[in-house]
Amino acid sequence: MATFKVLDSAVPVPCWSCSVSHVESTLFCPHCSKIQPPTGGNYFSALGLEPKLNVDLAQLEQEFHRLSRRLHPDRYARASENEKEWSLADTALVNDAYRTLKDPLRRTEYLLKLMGAEIGEENAGKNRRDQSNLSRVPADLLEEAFDLNMQLEEMRAARKANAKDPELQQALDAAKEKFTTMLSDVDRDLRAQWVRWDEGDEALRKAAQKAMVALLDRRRYLSNLVRDVNEVLGA
Ligand SMILES: [Zn+2]
Repeated sequence: MATFKVLDSAVPVPCWSCSVSHVESTLFCPHCSKIQPPTGGNYFSALGLEPKLNVDLAQLEQEFHRLSRRLHPDRYARASENEKEWSLADTALVNDAYRTLKDPLRRTEYLLKLMGAEIGEENAGKNRRDQSNLSRVPADLLEEAFDLNMQLEEMRAARKANAKDPELQQALDAAKEKFTTMLSDVDRDLRAQWVRWDEGDEALRKAAQKAMVALLDRRRYLSNLVRDVNEVLGA
């Protein structure tokens, strides 16, 4: 099933200490338990997980703590310089892997990037008032986003002038609620795509990847709208 090169880490390499071969992405030799040089394995393999989107969080947590204990600097006080260095590099890898994989959105983005998808965080998010980003606006949100931005400008002007505008306030509260609901819809849809990716064949996975990239773009866009409203409302 592992037809994706980037996820295929089953290259056997000999242990530097005992010479018995093991899977490249293993942090410790299964034969002699010695720490191995960093292999450039991915976050999933670092934590002994299959590359899947539905992750067993209890197992993730357990593996993280187990590896953190095994990599603790005290254990390498009398080890060679190489082993000391590897333990630090592996600690950094394991920390990054844990932080990324325990978060549903970061995990999704990470896996999509592993699969070669281009995630649009460079295009969305930054320079959000730049007109060149207009092409990133999901088509069905174009009009509402335009209206919202007008209302936000009005509200900023009103705030500056110390004027109260209850009607505008109400409209912005309603917009915030609406976009927040849309955000939860996106999260629900993302989880449905997780299942397709985890359990699907290659064609289904490709389709799920495409859908997730679009959903993440949409999510980022909606988050920015909600953030802008919060900024103006002072929430
Ligand atoms: Zn060994």
